[in-house]
Amino acid sequence: MERVKIDLGKNSYDILIGKNLLKDLKTLLDGNLEQYFIITDKNVDALYGDYLNMLDDYEKIIIEPGEQSKSIDVMTDVLKQMLEKGATRRSGVVSFGGGVVGDLAGFCSAIYMRGIPFVQIPTTLLAQVDSSVGGKTAINLLHYKNNVGAFHQPAKVIIDTVFLETLPHRELLSGIGEIVKYGIIYDYDFFKYVVENIEQIKERNSDVMIYIIKRCCEIKAEIVSQDEKEEGLRKILNFGHTIGHTLEGMSSFSKYAHGEAVIIGMYYETIMAKRLGIVNDKYAERILGFLSGLGVDLNIDSYPVSGLVDWMLKDKKNVGGKISFILPVEEGKVKELLLEKNEVLKHMSFWDGQHR
Ligand code: ADP
Ligand code: ZN
Repeated sequence: MERVKIDLGKNSYDILIGKNLLKDLKTLLDGNLEQYFIITDKNVDALYGDYLNMLDDYEKIIIEPGEQSKSIDVMTDVLKQMLEKGATRRSGVVSFGGGVVGDLAGFCSAIYMRGIPFVQIPTTLLAQVDSSVGGKTAINLLHYKNNVGAFHQPAKVIIDTVFLETLPHRELLSGIGEIVKYGIIYDYDFFKYVVENIEQIKERNSDVMIYIIKRCCEIKAEIVSQDEKEEGLRKILNFGHTIGHTLEGMSSFSKYAHGEAVIIGMYYETIMAKRLGIVNDKYAERILGFLSGLGVDLNIDSYPVSGLVDWMLKDKKNVGGKISFILPVEEGKVKELLLEKNEVLKHMSFWDGQHR
C-alpha cells in the first residue's frame, strides 16, 4: 500500500493507494466515530455496495448518478436523510463514488451541524487523481459549476485501483485529462511518462495506475499544502478549466465528462498561449499533438465564441471583470493571465471556424 501525506497542520491526512484495499475497509475506516453515513450513487452501489456489508454500523444514502445530483435539491434530501437517520456530530460521512458523490457528500459533511468528519473512497480515476484530494466540496447552482461550496478536508482518502476495472472508457479518458494536466502544470518528466505509457494507462495496468495516482496525489499535495484556499499557487490546477467549465455549463453538464471538457479546454488554451506568444511553438505542438490523439472530439463549433466569453465572465475566479486563464509557458510550467473580454475575443478569434 502506498501512502501520501497531505500536510495541512491540524487538517493533515493520509491518502492510501493500492489494489484491493477495499477488502480491509473495516480496519481502514476504524476510528473514533460512532456511525458512518455512506453516500453513494446507484451505479456504484450496484457494483460495489456488497463490500459495505462488512461494516457493523452504517447507513447508506443512494443518489442518482450524474452531475445533476450536485444540486441544492439533492443536497437537501441527503441532509434530511442524515437527520432522520440520526446523524450526530460523532458521525462520519463516507463518500463512496466518483467526483459527483465526493463533492456532494463532502459539502453535506461540511455543513451538517457546522461540519462533521468525512472519508473519501473515490471510485473513478478522475476522483482518485483530483477531486478527492484537496478539500474542495461543492454543488452547482443555476448551471454554474461548483459555485456553492466549502473547503472541508477529508480525514482520510482510500484509493483502490480495483474500481478502475469497471470504469466506462469515457470516464477513464476523463481521468486521463486531469493526469496530463499535472504534468503540464508542474512536472514535465511526469508528462513524458504519461505520453510514453498511454497505452498501459488505457489498459488500466495496475502498477502503472498506482504509480500515476500516487504521483498526481503528491503533486496535488505539494500544491495544496502551500495554498489550501486558492489564494495563489493552487490556481495552476485550473489549467484547461476556464474553457472546460464553460463548455460543461453551456451544455448543461450533459454532454461532457468533466475531464473531457478539461482536455478540450487545455487544447484551446494551449492554442491561445501560442497565439499570445508566451509559449514556444514546438512545445505547444507537443501538447496539442498528444491531446488531439486521446480520442476526445475537439470540435466545439456549435459554441459561438462570444457566447462562450459571456459565460466565462461569470466565473468566480475572475478578478476585476477580467477573465483568469492559466496558460502553459514552458515545460512543466504555467502562469496566470487576466484578460479583458475584448482581449479574449481577439485571441480566440481562431475559434469560430478554423482552430489552428
Ligand atoms: P467524476 O468522478 O468523473 O466526477 P461521476 O461521479 O459523475 O464522475 O461518475 C461518473 C459515472 O461513473 C457515474 O455514472 C458513476 O455512477 C459511474 N461510476 C463511478 N465509479 C464507477 C466504477 N468504479 N465503475 C463503473 N462506473 C462507475
Ligand atoms: Zn478538474
